Amino acid sequence: MRRVRQRGTEPELVVRRLLHAMGYRYRLNRHDLPGRPDIVLPARRVAIFIHGCFWHRHPRCSRTTTPKTNTDYWLPKLAENEARDAKVIAGLKAAGWRVRVIWECETEHPEELAGPLQSFLICSNETVD
Ligand SMILES: [Zn+2]
Repeated sequence: MRRVRQRGTEPELVVRRLLHAMGYRYRLNRHDLPGRPDIVLPARRVAIFIHGCFWHRHPRCSRTTTPKTNTDYWLPKLAENEARDAKVIAGLKAAGWRVRVIWECETEHPEELAGPLQSFLICSNETVD
């Protein structure tokens, strides 16, 4: 299995549709930012990542399985992903960005995701001039 990070995949489209429906303007894949956030709201200095549960180790998620074979390969690889994510998020925050990770499994229930996402964005609006 290789790591393939596709663009415009379904979870990302779900989030884009939600943001659009809420009237937010966003940009995609800002390559100049750490970790290339999937979606950026520049006016609010918000960076959003849409993360696959397995690869990015969604805590307490049933999809965050740990392979029982080839553990010499998988364990360091998955730990590396987690460490990279933490570093990227810390870097963005240090640069004044607010970061929201949206997990793949959350995008399967957009109606439940909408409220928390809106709260986060409204909150971010208050903290930014
Ligand atoms: Zn999950």
